[in-house]
Order: sequence, then C-alpha cells, then structure tokens
Amino acid sequence: MDEIEIIRRYFSTGYPARGDVVLGVGDDGALTRLGDGEELVTVTDTLVAGTHFPPELAAEAVAHRALAANLSDLAAMGAAPRWFTLALALPVAESAWLEAFAAGLRQLAGRFDTALVGGDTVRGPLSVTITALGAVRAGQAIGRSGAASGDGIFLTGSSGDAGWTWQALAEGLELDADDPLHRRFMFPEPRVAEGIGLRGLATAAIDVSDGLHVDLGRLLAASGVGGEANIESLPLSAALTAQAGETRARELALTGGDDYELCFTVPADNEAPLLAVAAAWPCRVTRIGQVLSTPGMRWRQAGELLAPPAAGFRHF
Ligand code: ADP
Ligand code: MG
Repeated sequence: MDEIEIIRRYFSTGYPARGDVVLGVGDDGALTRLGDGEELVTVTDTLVAGTHFPPELAAEAVAHRALAANLSDLAAMGAAPRWFTLALALPVAESAWLEAFAAGLRQLAGRFDTALVGGDTVRGPLSVTITALGAVRAGQAIGRSGAASGDGIFLTGSSGDAGWTWQALAEGLELDADDPLHRRFMFPEPRVAEGIGLRGLATAAIDVSDGLHVDLGRLLAASGVGGEANIESLPLSAALTAQAGETRARELALTGGDDYELCFTVPADNEAPLLAVAAAWPCRVTRIGQVLSTPGMRWRQAGELLAPPAAGFRHF
C-alpha cells in the first residue's frame, strides 16, 4: 500500500462533509470558508509514540487522543471546531492498524462535525500531528490572560484519572478498556460544548493537559494574578478515589495530565449565569477556588498552606 492508496482508503471518505469546505483532500491545499464577522482559531498538537502514548496503544485510542487534544485546545478558546489536517508518520503501512486508526478518527470527527481537509503521510517513527481549525465570533475567543482578582476558579468534570493510568503504564501494566480510569486516558472527552458555553461568561480558560497545578499556574501567570484553593474541593471521580485512595487521588488531581478538563475563571456576577448554562452539560462543574492578586497558585488543606505540588508533565 503506497501513500496515495492509504490516503484514498482511510483519509478521503467517512469524515463529515461540511458545506464550508470548498476543496478538501486531494489538491495541493484545502480551501474553506469562514462566515462574516468570524475569527479563525488554529491549534496543533503532536503525539509521539513512546512519549505521549505507549507504542502498543490501540490504534482507535491513538487517533482519538490526537484529535481530542486538539478539540480540547479549541474548546479552551471558546471556539467551535470546523476542520482539521492530519500529518501521520508510520513505520509500516499495516491495514488492520490503519483501519482501526481511521475508525477512531471518523468517530470523534463525526461527533463534533469536523471535516478532515488535508494532511501528509510519511514513513517514520509513529507520530500523529493534527492541526485543528475552529471559529469564534470576532472578539469572543477566550484567552488565558483575562482572569482578575476576585474571580472564581472553576473546573469541568474530574481530575486525576488519566494521571492514575500514566502511573499504571509506568509500572508496566497493560491498559484495560473496561477500566473507567484507563478508558479516560484512551478516550478523553474534549469539552467542546462547555468551552463554547463559556463565551461571554469566563474571563480566562485553559485546558488541563499537563496537570492542574501547572496549567492553572500558566493561566494565572498570563493574567498577572495568583490564586488559592482547598484541595478538599477538587472534583475526584468515584473510580479514582476507590482505586487510589483519597490522598493519592488528590495528588494525581493536582499533578496528573491528560484529563483534558477545562479550567476557567468567572467573575462573581457571572457565576449564577454560568451555573445555569452548566446545568445542561453532561459533566459537573466545580468551583475550586478563587483568583487573588498575589502571584502563584496556593493550595490549602484544612485551611493550612501546602507545599507546592511536584511539577506536571514537561518535555524539557
Ligand atoms: P502534496 O505532495 O501536494 O503535499 P500529497 O501527495 O502529500 O500532496 O497529498 C495528497 C492529498 O492528500 C493532499 O490534499 C493532502 O492534503 C492529502 N493528504 C495526505 N495525507 C493525508 C492524511 N494523512 N490525511 C488527510 N489528507 C491527507
Ligand atoms: Mg505532501
């Protein structure tokens, strides 16, 4: 199978066909249309086998995680996903693997009505780079830098599940798709509707890919503020508390990456409207703390200041 055949079989059909795609896969470039008064939001993420996932991870999960990481970045900007490109490096062209990879990609792309409009296919160590393109009404995108002292700090869903799975992988355990915590790592849910719902309500947002403490710290630093929260208020899944115990679960909630929850700040006047909007979300939303003017993120337990948690994921 050469790359033309790979593209034809796995990356040309079965993805959402959108009316705003003038020219998709097959030409030298993709041509897409934005509406009047819209801004384009562009995000990109690379997953490298051995760094971001174990090389033997199920191909559906590799595809899902690569696209979900990008959709999560769009969500953190308050953008609606429209299109994406896929740059795939493969050591071998194995049809069973590609079949499963394309199935995982089509499934998630279909759910979020995102068209695959181009890419590149090369031989090399397994890596997946996706660039996703989304849209927001001009001026409505949510950045990292708008948080202000007094805002509440909120988190969607629950934190720490994927971190628990990373720990299992480090211990050489095999992933079990029936385990809810492993599933969360394999098939993270990008909070797309939630991110769009934050437009006009949140002052800043970030998706948690490297760990809550680190990513929230980035948001606060970008905004020139700090924050405080009680670790008792961290949302933990029942599965995580059951398997890890409360103490370890809280550590993982602060330092574990790859949960792809949204962490965001909301001024007091917007808290009631936020909770009204969030009532329709499939995940919970928790107020975990508040923004203060003193820089840095501080965590308390039973009112006592804790030592800063160990860093989250860093490449260098
Ligand atoms: P070029 O040499 O002009 O870059 P290619 O032969 O690499 O073109 O690709 C042919 C077409 O297939 C282009 O439209 C490209 O965007 C698309 N394409 C290549 N690889 C992928 C992929 N993995 N997923 C989706 N589209 C792809
Ligand atoms: Mg090319």
